[in-house]
Amino acid sequence: MRIGIIALGLIGGSLLKALSGKDFELVAVSRDKTTLKAAKSYTDNVSDDISAIKDCDMVFVCTPISKTSEMLDKLEKIVSEDCIVTDVASVKGFLSSKKRPYKFIGSHPMAGTENKRFKASSPELFKGAKWVITPTIDTMIDDIEKLKNIIEMTGADLILADANEHDEAVALISHMPMLVAQAIFKTATNSDLALELAASGFRDMTRLAMTNTELAQDMMTYNGQNIKKACNMLSDSLSSLQDKSYVDTITAIKALRERMYSTEGKNILK
Ligand code: NAP
Repeated sequence: MRIGIIALGLIGGSLLKALSGKDFELVAVSRDKTTLKAAKSYTDNVSDDISAIKDCDMVFVCTPISKTSEMLDKLEKIVSEDCIVTDVASVKGFLSSKKRPYKFIGSHPMAGTENKRFKASSPELFKGAKWVITPTIDTMIDDIEKLKNIIEMTGADLILADANEHDEAVALISHMPMLVAQAIFKTATNSDLALELAASGFRDMTRLAMTNTELAQDMMTYNGQNIKKACNMLSDSLSSLQDKSYVDTITAIKALRERMYSTEGKNILK
């Protein structure tokens, strides 16, 4: 089996590192010379030309969200009709409707950091993480199985979801929280004393404010409607928490959150 990885940033680089040394050929494509040199430690097949992936059986497109559609279009003239092509973009709905002359299955690894580019990548990034794939009615079970096998080799667990439902869900647990983290930080800048006193609680609450700027902007652009809906739901939650059932509500929240995370911090909820 020959697997292509296009764009070797945090996610593409981590995928290359996680799949390196396994029983298949890897083709790594990057526009950056320094990255290509570093990628040579993980596969002999590196190139700055995307046509290098033309004989691949499976291709992972790991470009920024705003470049993914364009890259999927370019692949139409390069890969065979039997090739399984996936992407890793954090928003899925806008990519799912177009029919492709290859086997396209959208995907999104639920793992990341605020850092970017190959230097930030790690073979451990996907270990214990969920990895969503968004097949459609036309997707063959065999192709899902093939993709599942490769994804599981990174240490991730596969989850199947509808692309639009995925976008609503990630707005709630990732995109809206990022915006809120940014808003909390911005609000705190009203007081120099608050910033001086801020300790680990504030640091943890605002970690997502460090999200890579291009990714943050793309999430707002491509999942804006769902983020807006999630903000409205947050506003309802803020109001409902401030009533007399406060203690019961936060007791239930604490119990669920405790069940969700393992000691290593991974979400173990099925
Ligand atoms: P990243 O570290 O910035 O990597 C993106 C890579 O895409 C760059 O290193 C570059 O690779 C390539 N690239 C940049 N601009 C491009 C352009 N104009 N045209 C073509 N290629 C370009 O970002 P990332 O975090 O890996 O994000 C990549 C994808 O993963 C995004 O779709 C994002 O939604 C998704 N994702 C991110 C996270 C996260 O937490 N960061 C989590 C899950 C999914 P080369 O220099 O090698 O060409």
